[in-house]
Amino acid sequence: MDASKKILRRIPIIGLLNAIVSIDLLRRLTLELIERKIYKRVVEVNQNHCPRRSQEDKYYIVSNLLRSFIRAWREGLISPRVRRHLIEELGGKVLIPAADKVRSFRQEHGFNPPKFVTISPFSGCNLRCAGCYAISSSERAESLDYHIVDRILREKTKQWGSHFTVISGGEPLLWRSQGKGILDLAASHQDNFFLMYTNGTLITPKVARRMAEAANISPAISVEGLKKETDARRGRGVYEKILRAFHNLREEGVPFGISVTATRENAEVVTSDEFAEFYLKEQGALYCWLFQYMPIGRSYTIKLLITPQQRLEMYRRIQRLVREKRYFIADFWNSGTLSNGCISAGRPDGGYFYINWKGDITPCVFVPYSTHNIKEVYHQGGDLNTILFSPFFAAIRKWQYAYGFMKSPTEVGNQITPCPIRDHYGVMRGIVEHHKAHPIDESAANALTDKSYYEGMVDYGERVSELTRDIWEKDYLDPEREAVLQESRR
Ligand code: SF4
Repeated sequence: MDASKKILRRIPIIGLLNAIVSIDLLRRLTLELIERKIYKRVVEVNQNHCPRRSQEDKYYIVSNLLRSFIRAWREGLISPRVRRHLIEELGGKVLIPAADKVRSFRQEHGFNPPKFVTISPFSGCNLRCAGCYAISSSERAESLDYHIVDRILREKTKQWGSHFTVISGGEPLLWRSQGKGILDLAASHQDNFFLMYTNGTLITPKVARRMAEAANISPAISVEGLKKETDARRGRGVYEKILRAFHNLREEGVPFGISVTATRENAEVVTSDEFAEFYLKEQGALYCWLFQYMPIGRSYTIKLLITPQQRLEMYRRIQRLVREKRYFIADFWNSGTLSNGCISAGRPDGGYFYINWKGDITPCVFVPYSTHNIKEVYHQGGDLNTILFSPFFAAIRKWQYAYGFMKSPTEVGNQITPCPIRDHYGVMRGIVEHHKAHPIDESAANALTDKSYYEGMVDYGERVSELTRDIWEKDYLDPEREAVLQESRR
C-alpha cells in the first residue's frame, strides 16, 4: 500500500466529510466534482443505452437527492449515528458483498434479481382517509406474523443481495406481532435500509429517538397538500400532528420525506412552488414521492383520477421543479424514465413486488391481483423465488420487455405512460384473466365486473398516451433517431 493510501486510511471518513460539508468552498467544489462524475457515468457512458433525455432525468434526480442530503447534513438534520450507519455500514460494508450476490443470481438465472420488496404488515390505521384501503377499526385489522416478515427480509438479502425494504400500510407504527413492531424489525436488520410510508401522527419524540437509534429507517409522511387539503382528506388536526412529527424527526436527526396522493382536486397544489418550498426547504424533507390517485381499494372512484390534461400539466411542472429548482420529486407514473418503465413483478434492475397483511403477493401495490400467498408458499417449502418465477409475474415482465425495457433507444415505449394497469388497463386485465390471478379484496373483485370502470380506465390510458406522445417522440426519441442517422452517414 502506498503512503497516500495509508494516510487516507487513518483519516476518519466521517470527520473528513464533516469538514467538507461545513466549509462552503470545499463543499461546492466537492459537489461539482461528484456531479460531474455522476453525469459522465449516467448520461455519457449510459451503459444500458437508454434515450439520452431519460438519462438526464436520472442524473437530475440523483444529483438532487445528493444535494438534499448534503443540505440536511449541514443543517444538522441527520444525526452523527445515522450518517455513520449510512456511509460506513450500509455504504462501505454492505454494497460490495451485495454485488457478489447479484452476480451469482445472474449467473444462475440469466437476469438480475429484484432490488426490493414492499411489505404492508398491518391493515389497520388510526385515521380514515377518503379512498384509502386501510381498515380503521383495529378489531377487523389483519396482520402478518413477525417471523414471516423477518424471514422475507433475511431471504431477499441473502438470495438477491437486496438491502432496501419498503414498508407500507395501514399504519406500520401500529403493527405489533410476537411482542415486536416495525422499529424492532429495523433495529434487527441493520443490513437493510427501510423506507416507511406512515401518516406521521404516531411519531412522538420517543418514536423518533428509536428511529435515530436504529439509524436505518426514513419515514415518508403522507400529506395531501398544505393545511387545507391535508385536513380535508385526513381529518381535522392531522396537519398539525404532521408538523410535530417533522419537528421530532429533525430534533433526533432522522432523515425523512413526504408522500403525496395527487387527485383531480389537489393536482395543482401538490406541484406548486409553494408546496415544494414549504416541505422540501422549510420543513427539511429530503424527498417527495408523488402518487397519482389510483382507483383501487375501498370506495374506489375514477372521478378522483387526475384528468389527462392535469397529468400532462403535472409532467411539465415536475420537470421544472426537478430540473430548474433542483428538488427531489418523483411521480410514480410520470417519472417512468427514472426506472426505465414499470418495475413491478420483480423486474430485473430496480424491480420489486408487494406483500400485504394477509400474505397475498401482488406484482405491485397498485395491482390488487395475486396468484400466491407467502404463508402458503413457505408452508409448501417454497421461497421468494417461487413467486418471482411464477407464470403470472413472468408474463408481466415479458410485457415490460416488449414495451421498452432494455430496447434500443429509438424503440423504447412511452415512459411517461409506463403503467400496465393505469395507462394500459387492457394489458393488465388480460394478464390477470389469463393467469387466473384472484382479487385480493372486494373492491378488486368488483372492479373486474364493473363495465364502466373498465371503459373509463381504457379511455383514460388512451387519452393520456395521445396527449404525451408528442413529448415522448420529440424530446426523447427524435434525438436518438438523429444520432443513428448521423452515425450511418459517417
Ligand atoms: S404496475 Fe404501474 S404502478 Fe406498479 S410499478 Fe408498474 S408502472 Fe408502477
